[in-house]
Amino acid sequence: MTKPKSINRRPVIVGNWKMNGLARSKSEIIALVKRLQKEQARRFDIVICPPATLLHLFKPLVQGTPVNLGAQDCHFKPSGAYTGDLGAPMLKDAGAKWIIVGHSERRTDHGETDEVVEAKAAAVLSDGLRVIICVGETEAERIQGKTLRIIGSQLKQSLPAAASSKNTVIAYEPIWAIGTGRTPTLDDINDVHRFIRRNLVDKLDGDGHKVRILYGGSVKPQNALEITSIADVDGALVGGASLKATDFWQIIKAGR
Ligand code: PEP
Repeated sequence: MTKPKSINRRPVIVGNWKMNGLARSKSEIIALVKRLQKEQARRFDIVICPPATLLHLFKPLVQGTPVNLGAQDCHFKPSGAYTGDLGAPMLKDAGAKWIIVGHSERRTDHGETDEVVEAKAAAVLSDGLRVIICVGETEAERIQGKTLRIIGSQLKQSLPAAASSKNTVIAYEPIWAIGTGRTPTLDDINDVHRFIRRNLVDKLDGDGHKVRILYGGSVKPQNALEITSIADVDGALVGGASLKATDFWQIIKAGR
């Protein structure tokens, strides 16, 4: 199950702050930047996705550091009469280099379908940003043995035509593992990531081997090493444990 040396995908560790953080949270960014060592910066892509309200504030704090900023969602249109929404060009302007789309909290709480996720991902790419597309099954779907079918259909329908290993990262996030402290077994994570890899290779040929696939769902400093050591796990999408610089830094330190 451990990584074959021949495949060289640069790991990505992403922090999703969700609806948490005020201006004073800049102290966490300052602390993270201070802790990051050259070695970690050289080996990983490190991305923090704070609420959009904080992007402008954090932008100067990460300039010239290994930390990149990302956003947690965007509209599929660049601008227009969409009250309360934010387009990819606005998030880019505020400092985002990456945008997460299709997070299960968006799919569930905002009724986002695969078609909407695909349109959002296409909008991110058309603005020259990188996209993190989330997929994952519910607990009921896992119990019914539908996990791979669900992931396969989400991948098929939410990957935009312009997706490539240079601009797209896939995050496998079992919904029942998000924020619960529960994780699938390492074998189960391995099976899903291998399945995603096969799907990517089917769709993108050789480039599918280079797309980074992240695991997300209750990643903590204590389990980061064993999870990121799995062959097709190329990093982590971290929610709760990304809010404190010390925890997030330990996850980066443990990452493979
Ligand atoms: C997430 O929401 O993307 C996530 C992985 O959350 P947590 O790490 O808190 O489970």
